[in-house]
Amino acid sequence: MSKIYGIDLGTTNSCISVLKDGKPYTIPVDGNGIVPSVVSLDGSNLLVGRKAWNRAAAFPEQSIRSVKRLMGTTEKLKLGNKDYDPEDISAMILRYLCDEALRIEGHEVEKVVITVPAYFSDAQRRATMEAGKRAGLTVERIINEPTAAALFYDHVLASDGEPESKNSAEALPKEASQYALVYDLGGGTFDVSVLHMGEIIEVLASTGDTHLGGDDFDKRIVRHLLHEIKEKEKVDLEDYVPALARLNAVAERAKISLSEKASVRVEETRIPTPKGKSCTVSMEFSREEFEAMTEDFVDRTVASVEKAMEEAKLSPDKIGKVLLVGGMTRMPAIAARLEQIFGGARMPVVDPDLSVSNGASIQGGIISGENCEQILVDVTPHTLSLESLTYDYEQLECSPIIPRNTQIPVTRARTFATVSHHQRIAELKVYQGESRFPADNTLIGETYLELAPAEAHCPILVEYSYDLTGIVHLVAEQKGYSRKTEIRIDSRNPQLFSSQGLQEIEDGADDEDEEAEEQAIAINFVTQRARNLISKMQDGEKKNALAEALARYEKALVDDDSLVDEIEDELLALIEEEALEEE
Ligand code: AMP
Repeated sequence: MSKIYGIDLGTTNSCISVLKDGKPYTIPVDGNGIVPSVVSLDGSNLLVGRKAWNRAAAFPEQSIRSVKRLMGTTEKLKLGNKDYDPEDISAMILRYLCDEALRIEGHEVEKVVITVPAYFSDAQRRATMEAGKRAGLTVERIINEPTAAALFYDHVLASDGEPESKNSAEALPKEASQYALVYDLGGGTFDVSVLHMGEIIEVLASTGDTHLGGDDFDKRIVRHLLHEIKEKEKVDLEDYVPALARLNAVAERAKISLSEKASVRVEETRIPTPKGKSCTVSMEFSREEFEAMTEDFVDRTVASVEKAMEEAKLSPDKIGKVLLVGGMTRMPAIAARLEQIFGGARMPVVDPDLSVSNGASIQGGIISGENCEQILVDVTPHTLSLESLTYDYEQLECSPIIPRNTQIPVTRARTFATVSHHQRIAELKVYQGESRFPADNTLIGETYLELAPAEAHCPILVEYSYDLTGIVHLVAEQKGYSRKTEIRIDSRNPQLFSSQGLQEIEDGADDEDEEAEEQAIAINFVTQRARNLISKMQDGEKKNALAEALARYEKALVDDDSLVDEIEDELLALIEEEALEEE
């Protein structure tokens, strides 16, 4: 079997690694293997990586950075006079990594494992797979970045013994050696995961923030620089993109220096202004000032750490190791803050930039049957639920089918019931998120199950499967009537799932045509609306009239089609009248 390469497709930087003699090796693309996730157009020449990054500061309009933030959206990106999908831009970065790997190593890259933040939604995971496809690659697996980092750490431990630690860990209870926390702060995303590191690596909990990263820290420095320029040079560059690009690059350099030094002087003389002249800024920043101006970001990461610990049902003294991943964890304040929480845990010094792609290459080795001992267990990043009516028909709620942090691959089913007698359609709305209320979660897809005539409370079995690439499949079945429907994901659309249509199995009946389906949906809407109102109305004449009309309507649906329209009009009028009064 050909080698499976590991790729960390990062917001700021990307890396490609492969197992060589059973050891992960990062291919030194762009010199040190840390390849800026930037593309830039120079005339008709497409630049990717370090060269694109160099050009991006001077020509931001012809360059694209941080495309990872847009993965899973339908936003178009302009490069030259062409529009691209985020997947196309990511594909250019992947292609560049693989072409360079071929040039350096002499082997074609065909199969890959790509990592994503643990908090990535299904849309974002699908988009990442699609980017791989568009780059002409076979994506064997999408895995979570923290999980990859832990795989790498485990490998270092197995081959070189316990790596040096950033702190002097205290003796912890014996069981703590089994638990690790991965803190991953990169250029654009933050992830934290709690792992059980036994014979297998198990992710107990993972959470994070897809909109927090090193770029935000840079912007805080930029804010100070803009203020200084406004004061001293009397020019407002807040909305002037070429100047902002230059200042961002300056700010990032200052931030990186502050990880080594107690203070840094920013001197920049070539800042472009809208009038064509350039201006200058000169400022001193101390590490202390920088830490104070970004403390709220660190606080946000700590809140996520606490959330992950709560989900894993562990106290800090149960964590034996804290693994730091992502370039931003070189900022000393981060390790210091984590040490306050996990004083006793070790913080092994493992390269925070390369551990994810190295871990992905280990996963590649596991898949291709190379000599790797670890087995990986991953979890669902979000709860997947189905929208249903509460018992009192008062409101809609999300009924979880696969709870967040369930080990994957997983298949779980739950039985629901129809609401009304001879209900024609069951609406199936799939939500992702932790709230009980659909409005607070993300609707990721919907379909309908056409039902055979049956009494109310007829059981509908709804089964969700979540596979190792993070993709969801739904199957719904009316028990005892062989009515079944399935849906699958369409990652290009925010409504991720596209219906495969309603199928009638076994008895081989034809699918309803569109008109009949629409009519059935309308009937379902009317009956549910009526029931909902009845459950809220006070006893009295109006309630009785509505209940009586609903009963006649349901009877007509079964016994006498010719009466349906007339009773439906009557029912709708009563519903409307009651709804108006409610308002
Ligand atoms: P990653 O996405 O893991 O490649 O991390 C990139 C982020 O780490 C960027 O925001 C970099 O500016 C930041 N970074 C890299 N090296 C350092 C450093 N020594 N100190 C602070 N931040 C750094």
